[in-house]
Amino acid sequence: MRKRILVTGGGGFIGSHLCERLLNEGNEVLCVDNFFTGTKENIVHLINNPYFEVLRHDITFPLYVEVDEIYNLACPASPIHYQFDPVQTVKTAVHGAINMLGLAKRLKVKILQASTSEVYGNPSVHPQSESYWGNVNPIGLRSCYDEGKRCAETLFFDYHRQHKLKIKVARIFNTYGPRMHLNDGRVVSNFIIQALRGEDITVYGDGSQTRSFCYIDDMIDGLIKLMNTPDDFTGPVNLGNPSEISILELAEKILKITRSKSRIVFKPLPQDDPVRRCPDITLAKEKLDWQPKVSLDEGLEKTVEYFKRVLSKAK
Ligand code: NAD
Ligand code: UDP
Repeated sequence: MRKRILVTGGGGFIGSHLCERLLNEGNEVLCVDNFFTGTKENIVHLINNPYFEVLRHDITFPLYVEVDEIYNLACPASPIHYQFDPVQTVKTAVHGAINMLGLAKRLKVKILQASTSEVYGNPSVHPQSESYWGNVNPIGLRSCYDEGKRCAETLFFDYHRQHKLKIKVARIFNTYGPRMHLNDGRVVSNFIIQALRGEDITVYGDGSQTRSFCYIDDMIDGLIKLMNTPDDFTGPVNLGNPSEISILELAEKILKITRSKSRIVFKPLPQDDPVRRCPDITLAKEKLDWQPKVSLDEGLEKTVEYFKRVLSKAK
């Protein structure tokens, strides 16, 4: 039977891909977004689908709808965006979670939380597994996001214990691909756009910090597989690509793929920028039978093609 699925943040980068996939799999999708960082362009190709609905709504306010399943993705994810209005970021993460959990409780439906590798902060354990409790600054510039997402995880587990709610918590590591916002500010989109425009590539710090980048299609597979695990599996579960790369190496790779003549320049490292990040995905392999299939080179090629198209239209 066709399920009616709510995707909060469905107008954003990951959310729009998720809406598309869920529709393609024969579901009805209700996309709820306040379009703070998401755009209508991300979902315009879905608008004519009679099983797709969009509701402009801020999840810090209660929402009364009838659905069979909830993916809670609403929250700005890029540091420049979540630091623009940090109080609203905390409200979205915490009040938003309470509102969506309340909705799931009333409807007695499953709810998945898009949590983040940021719950590990600047990790002292490497690679990070779900049993690690993290190393997070509670009062820094990234705290509105990191602590907001940590508190959201707490709420998910308290609703699960207290109200027997069916929950799924995904700890998403750096994800990239088509539909990242042009001004997103995250490293993959920044470097590709700079390279394509022939502008300087801005490496923060000396570029020795590492990240592990997961292509969007793999992430969507992981999120849907997690939602469909048996009810007794709640997570948290890491979803990400365990192949780790330094930011300087990433810059060099993107220069090569784009055949760009841009120069690499070094800028100050932002406060509390994690030094290393790499997921241990043993649990996801075991419980979800999931692991990323798209290599970084392959994913970057596709993302470069996307930004070439977007930039040529913007001219
Ligand atoms: P995004 O900024 O592209 O999407 C977030 C969406 O949420 C946007 O459409 C935005 O308009 C919407 N939104 C923000 N505040 C809202 C509110 N109060 N009410 C309703 N809608 C609101 O970011 P993304 O990369 O697609 O991230 C989606 C989710 O995944 C986020 O929860 C993020 O924390 C999580 N995540 C993403 C990554 C990543 O690398 N992309 C990594 C870890 C976690
Ligand atoms: N970064 C960079 N140049 C940029 C944007 C980001 O060197 O133009 C670095 C940033 O300091 C961090 C890494 O790239 O070390 C990943 O940053 P992003 O904002 O994409 O994600 P996060 O820090 O949340 O993992």
